[in-house]
Amino acid sequence: MIRHHFTVDVEEYFQVSAFESRVRRADWDRFEPRVVGSVYRLLDMLARHEARATFFVVGWVAERHPDLVRGIAHAGHEIASHSWDHARVTDQSPLTFRDSVRRAKYLLEDLAGAPVLGFRAPSFSIVPGREWALDVLIEEGYRYDSSLFPVRRPGYGYANGHPDPHWLERPVGRIAEVPPTTLRRWGTNVPAGGGAYFRLFPYAVVRAALRDCAHRGAPGTFYIHPWELDPDQPRIAVPWPTRVRHYGGLRRTAPRLERLLVEFRFTAIADTLARLTDMARV
Ligand SMILES: [Zn+2]
Repeated sequence: MIRHHFTVDVEEYFQVSAFESRVRRADWDRFEPRVVGSVYRLLDMLARHEARATFFVVGWVAERHPDLVRGIAHAGHEIASHSWDHARVTDQSPLTFRDSVRRAKYLLEDLAGAPVLGFRAPSFSIVPGREWALDVLIEEGYRYDSSLFPVRRPGYGYANGHPDPHWLERPVGRIAEVPPTTLRRWGTNVPAGGGAYFRLFPYAVVRAALRDCAHRGAPGTFYIHPWELDPDQPRIAVPWPTRVRHYGGLRRTAPRLERLLVEFRFTAIADTLARLTDMARV
C-alpha cells in the first residue's frame, strides 16, 4: 500500500493571505495565539494512526513557540519551511524572498536539530513568471519545493505543472517538486489536496484523488492548517466568499481527518525524496 504525504502548514488563523487587507503584520502580536493547541491535536491524531507527516512551519510562529517545533520533531515528524512571515512570493523581490527562506531555515534547523529540506510558499504563490524563487531555494540549500499547484485559480496555480512528484532542472541546479494533489476529471485538474477543498467538497473528491495517485504509483500530497481544526477561533470580519472559504465546514475537519487516516497510509515528504534521489542515481 502506497504511503501518501500528510502535510501541515503551521500558521496562525490571522496570518492567512486572504485576511491581509484586514490584519496588518504589525498587529499580529495583538491577536490571541491559538496554533499550539491545534498542532498538538494533530500530533495526537497522527500518533494514533501511526502516520508520519511534514510540518511546514512559518518562522514567525517558530520564534514565538520554539517548544512547539521541538515537540513536532520529537514526535518523529519532518520540519520544513513555510517562509518567515507568510508573505506571498508574488509580493516579494528575490532579495526579500532569499532573506525570508534563509532566516526560516536557520531557525527551524536549530530547533529541529535536523536539516530543513523542504519549502512551501504561502498561498502556493510560486506562479508562472516567479520561477526565480526555485533558484533561490536551490541556492539556499533546499532540496524540494511543494508550491506548484497544477490548477488554474484566481491568484494562484501553476496550471501546466506536473501533478506527481518530479525533478525540476534549473540553471543553478535541480530541485524536487512535490505538488499538492489534484484530481484529473472532465479535462481539467480539480484541486483536491486539502484545505478548504477538503472541508467544502464531498470527502469522496479527496479520496478519489489519492486513489488515482496510488494507481499511478505516485504518492499524493494532502495538506491541512491547524486553524482548520479550531472551530472556536475568533472571527475576523471579511467579505462572504472569504468567510465561506475560511470558516466553512470547520467542524467537519477532525472527523474527516480521522476517516482519511484510517483509509490511507501517510508519511513525510523526506521519505519520498530519498526514493526520488535513489531512482535518479540508477
Ligand atoms: Zn500558509
